Amino acid sequence: MDRIDLRSDTVSWPTPEMRQAMADAVVGDDVYGEDPTVNRLEQESARRLGKEAGLFLASGTMGNLVGVLAHCGRGDEVILGDRAHTFVYEAGGIAALGSVHPHTVPVQPDGTLPLDAIRSAIRPDNLHFPRTRLIALENTQGTVGGIPISKEYTDAVGAIAAEHDVALHIDGARIFNAAVALNCDVADLVAAADSVQFCLSKGLCAPIGSMLVGSQAYIDNARRVRKLVGGAMRQVGIVAAAGLIALEKMTLRLGEDHATARRLAEGLAQIPQIEIEPERVQTNMIFFALRENAGITAPELTERLKQHNIWTRAGDERHFRFVTHYWIQPEHVDIVINAMRKELM
Ligand SMILES: *Cc1c(COP(=O)(O)O)cnc(C)c1O
Repeated sequence: MDRIDLRSDTVSWPTPEMRQAMADAVVGDDVYGEDPTVNRLEQESARRLGKEAGLFLASGTMGNLVGVLAHCGRGDEVILGDRAHTFVYEAGGIAALGSVHPHTVPVQPDGTLPLDAIRSAIRPDNLHFPRTRLIALENTQGTVGGIPISKEYTDAVGAIAAEHDVALHIDGARIFNAAVALNCDVADLVAAADSVQFCLSKGLCAPIGSMLVGSQAYIDNARRVRKLVGGAMRQVGIVAAAGLIALEKMTLRLGEDHATARRLAEGLAQIPQIEIEPERVQTNMIFFALRENAGITAPELTERLKQHNIWTRAGDERHFRFVTHYWIQPEHVDIVINAMRKELM
């Protein structure tokens, strides 16, 4: 990579090994189910997450959209966090395209939704109410700092869902970051979920793609919904080849990104103009703020860091989110800290 780009893990380039695998990929028409590389990626994804079947999709947004639409019909309700990606950052797709009614409950600083809030959001059977069909969790919970959500909590939500005959979906865009941070097998972590979406294109470095996994019957239905939204692709093994490397190799090294993030957070904590709680950095995201008296705004600092070939993005006048990934090396930590010290002097 030609710069230190901390704006997101989505900026990560495919690795040289991925580019080679893409060039060499064996392909077929995936709408006919004839692309061996896609088939392998779908089977391996399902196996890794402990589910029966998998589906390859163009993006995480499409994975969540198809995932929700395969559970819910018109007017059905999904319970999800008020700071969930699906609620905030997916252009209202579940409502716009699926006529699914979102019912939000507050996301807490630890990334969970209060269990009693979930329980009381589930509608009794009454013709005035929408029908609650689905609860959706996000793991890691991005908007509160990439916080991993535990298996115990996920199982507790699963038990509530099962008790009310409601399905559980996990937006696991970064589920492997969560599993690594919790030192937990990813299949155990999502055992209570009926469906899981995860991204190949974030910290796992694939250029494109997300997976949806669940039961065979659910994925058969989701495959039809994917067609409906125009997401069925043809010789897409070219892309899935990179996804296989993401799944099989890149998931094994995410601990390095977490260690780099923690070191970056500890370095930032030494800078007097910066407000940060380094112990909240549990995966690859670092949330911090400039103090009121820092004498510079976050957008101004962003501009100055560009002169050091460091790319960041300000959330507002004071707040930043840095994200580590494959292309952020340990030796970049000191470069970033020194540049920030210099510009904040
Ligand atoms: C990035 C992200 C998505 C959407 O993925 P895209 O591939 O960008 O569409 C969904 N959920 C979460 C939590 C994400 O971080």
